[in-house]
Amino acid sequence: LDAADRQRFAGSYAHRKSALSHLAYGVSSTPRATQNPVAIAVERGEGAHVVDVDGNRYIDYALGYGPLILGHTPPSVIAAIQDELGRGLRTASVHRGEAELAELIAACVPSAEQTSFVSTGTEAIQLALRVARAATGRVKIIKFRANYHGWADGIHVGNAIGQDGASALGQDPQAAQSVTLLDWGDAGQVEAVLDASFAAVIVEPAAINGGCFEPPAGFLERVRTATQRCGALLIFDEVITGFRLALGGAQERYGVTPDLSVLGKALGAGLPISAVSGSRAAMEILSSGRLMHRGTFNGNPLSVAAAIACLKVLQAERGEIYPRMEGFAAQLCGFLNDEAVRRGVPVRARQAGAAFQIFAANGPVETLRDTAKVDKDKTLVFTGALLRQGVMTLPRGLCYLSSAHSLADIEATEAAIAVAMETMARSTT
Ligand code: PMP
Repeated sequence: LDAADRQRFAGSYAHRKSALSHLAYGVSSTPRATQNPVAIAVERGEGAHVVDVDGNRYIDYALGYGPLILGHTPPSVIAAIQDELGRGLRTASVHRGEAELAELIAACVPSAEQTSFVSTGTEAIQLALRVARAATGRVKIIKFRANYHGWADGIHVGNAIGQDGASALGQDPQAAQSVTLLDWGDAGQVEAVLDASFAAVIVEPAAINGGCFEPPAGFLERVRTATQRCGALLIFDEVITGFRLALGGAQERYGVTPDLSVLGKALGAGLPISAVSGSRAAMEILSSGRLMHRGTFNGNPLSVAAAIACLKVLQAERGEIYPRMEGFAAQLCGFLNDEAVRRGVPVRARQAGAAFQIFAANGPVETLRDTAKVDKDKTLVFTGALLRQGVMTLPRGLCYLSSAHSLADIEATEAAIAVAMETMARSTT
């Protein structure tokens, strides 16, 4: 271990060591442990920044794995949570906020005439699949390779290029038998395979988990047409893209309206809340009460209050927030790619709206299939080098913008990228 790292991250190393004694693997979600050189123990967040237990300050592009679209301390969201707290915790009670939030979602998201709430994206995916199966009376689902839809047994397959099977130890290998895997972006495959035996096609409309790919021209439109022809439901997993690629998500950005949308992450501005939304027809099985939808924490008042406050800010400031986030992402990707080419370093960035992916690769990565060439270890070296320069990304290189990032943050990030490139240039020669 590097002596300078030991010193700089002393508190995080000490935290990790003590956490391991009772907290399984020292983290609450396995990927958090992959941060290089150590899982940073965060002390507090402030706008677009986080401060760790050693007092190191970072410009934060991890943003809690995506939810913190307004940054760590959005005043109106925090005020709404405090106000709600003044009336007690009240979970599992019917309250006014749920209907108000559903109405706000309907105003923002094209497909969202009706909405049901759960707490996490994984649960919302499970509910959406159940709605599709109950509504159609069919079982089979089409999923795309390297799209991620949460960790439940029945859909946790084909999460990376080259890994078509069940992805987790202990997963029921039978559970995902009703899933047919196809190549994301290839509408011809969908048209060839889809027939009246399928309940749904589920898709990340922009393949953010796979490496920030926007859909090829015509892909979503053709999948939309094919599902309509077969009476299968089209489900957009907008857990990342919802309220991020536009106020109305990917469906607004690309002009294709699904039957069902799965929303999460940015919806709650940082509190746990996810949703299934859809047309009146697609949601009828839920809105009639025929399909059982359960969960003690569904629609909990604190999360709902945070989400209402968040959507109000995004609605009021959409004209400034989205172009600015996207402009900053473009500026950073442009800078990173130019620097990398100039220095001959095999690191690149790809942008999709207010998200971008940094990766090291042995060759060009133009399509999702090319991500098989991504060098995961070298990517971790690069994101680790950025961390030492005060820039926090997801360990695997995925980055998000928030409304709290400033031009000064972007310029400081460019300086950090330049130094991290130098480190990479030295380590590859
Ligand atoms: N769908 C997508 C597209 C996601 O990115 C994620 C989480 N990264 C999920 C579903 C699962 O959401 P959660 O982690 O809240 O269960």
